[in-house]
Amino acid sequence: MKCKCGVEVLEGSKFCPECGSKLPKPKAPVPKIADELVIDKVPPVINAKETAILLRISLWMVYELVKQEKIPYFTVGKRKLFRTQELLAWAGTQDEITTAG
Ligand SMILES: [Zn+2]
Repeated sequence: MKCKCGVEVLEGSKFCPECGSKLPKPKAPVPKIADELVIDKVPPVINAKETAILLRISLWMVYELVKQEKIPYFTVGKRKLFRTQELLAWAGTQDEITTAG
């Protein structure tokens, strides 16, 4: 990153070594679900996108499985939600998962 004086400073520095001015805090990254989910950090109820990550399938496939009632889910209003426990139990019983009707 660069100080306002134009000097390149190390990422995470609090002060510019050149002009001594205080550097702006780097913005904290927006918390988002990791690409690699740690199982014990997965909340008990997750959405379709998180399900895709958890099962390592595409979001499209999640919706396809939902549409064909092949995956355990429930709805809240119009949202489709998934219980992590059920998904893991379900995935553990599948040798081959197809979305073909
Ligand atoms: Zn500076």
